[in-house]
Amino acid sequence: MKIFTTRKDLRKYLSAFSGNSVGFVPTMGALHNGHLALITQAQKNNDLVICSIFVNPTQFNDSKDLENYPRPIADDIAKLTQAKCDVLFHPEVLEIYDDNEHWHLNIGELEHLLEGKFRPEHYQGVMQVVYKLLDIVKPTRIYLGQKDYQQYLVVKQMIALKHISVEPVMCPIQRDDDGLALSSRNIHLSPAERQHALALSKTLNWVKVNFNAGNIDSLQRHAFTMLQQSPGVDPEYFELADGQTLLPAKADTKNVVALTAARVGATRLIDNMVVKA
Ligand code: AMP
Repeated sequence: MKIFTTRKDLRKYLSAFSGNSVGFVPTMGALHNGHLALITQAQKNNDLVICSIFVNPTQFNDSKDLENYPRPIADDIAKLTQAKCDVLFHPEVLEIYDDNEHWHLNIGELEHLLEGKFRPEHYQGVMQVVYKLLDIVKPTRIYLGQKDYQQYLVVKQMIALKHISVEPVMCPIQRDDDGLALSSRNIHLSPAERQHALALSKTLNWVKVNFNAGNIDSLQRHAFTMLQQSPGVDPEYFELADGQTLLPAKADTKNVVALTAARVGATRLIDNMVVKA
């Protein structure tokens, strides 16, 4: 695997691949099988696969969270090498950002719903870094996980508004055998907290099994209460939303996705499930 830390060196290398399809998997590292599934999917449909590892400061609204974000780069390189990823782009912050940068893109309500309510400015930071990475890598396709459902829609909208020539591809959520969605943040969970965290996927499953379009409000309330009553879980939201817009689902909404965020101890977790396709 080739490893680049500067945009100049990466561009120089990639210039030899014009005419080939390039699949791009942006990550913040601490790689797990969820990330590796994106790499595998990208390998199926592209001549060259590039993964980036960059813990993007502009998408963190909590400086402690940024500081504590895991950065096991040697392990990550070993995993990517074993997965036969072609290229890793692993820049320093100053390689991506100048001192005084401003970014704002109006994507309407999508920015302020769900995660946006609890993490103000988060999606502006996500769009800013993905825009920059796409400008450097210029991939044919960008692979994003359903785990960050709202992020996928945000990036898709940014790509459309900025007229970027890249195809966004959403890949399914990878879970542990007991249902817990894989996340880089799971390593912060104690064994007891890890058990408590199962309430998220269990509640999502319960809603999926009991989904009834005529009963959306009460299902949503019931699910939130289930999470509140789960030991060690402090839910922020549980919502049934339109899978295209993430606005609240109505009785006649065609695609419905259930999305939730909760704190388990000091760790904030998110998860979602399509309940009506
Ligand atoms: P992150 O490193 O958390 O920024 O995630 C990088 C990419 O991996 C994003 O597109 C995530 O949605 C995706 N991802 C994270 N966890 C999972 C998972 N459990 N299953 C599938 N994709 C995931």
